[in-house]
Amino acid sequence: MGHTCRRCSQEIPEGGLYYHVKLSAVSGYDGFIDLEHEAAVSAIADEISGKSSEALEEDVYFEREVILCSSCRKAVIETFCEQLRIDGGPDKAPGDLLH
Ligand SMILES: [Zn+2]
Repeated sequence: MGHTCRRCSQEIPEGGLYYHVKLSAVSGYDGFIDLEHEAAVSAIADEISGKSSEALEEDVYFEREVILCSSCRKAVIETFCEQLRIDGGPDKAPGDLLH
């Protein structure tokens, strides 16, 4: 079974090169809650009460995974690095991340 690139709709034939590209954004928590700023807490409570549970869930944890062809993979990574001013550099091999 082949795949279709999410970005350019190119059909990737069976055995062809394609990539799983995933974006996840996970809420951070440093263990500190500043209760002295009640106005801020109240504003957060108001914000929470106006949102659906799905929207709240996405505020805490967002993840999407798409299939991309080789050239779209390159373009998406370049855009991501450009937007965040991250040094694109050569890709890290999985082993490089395990130190
Ligand atoms: Zn593509």
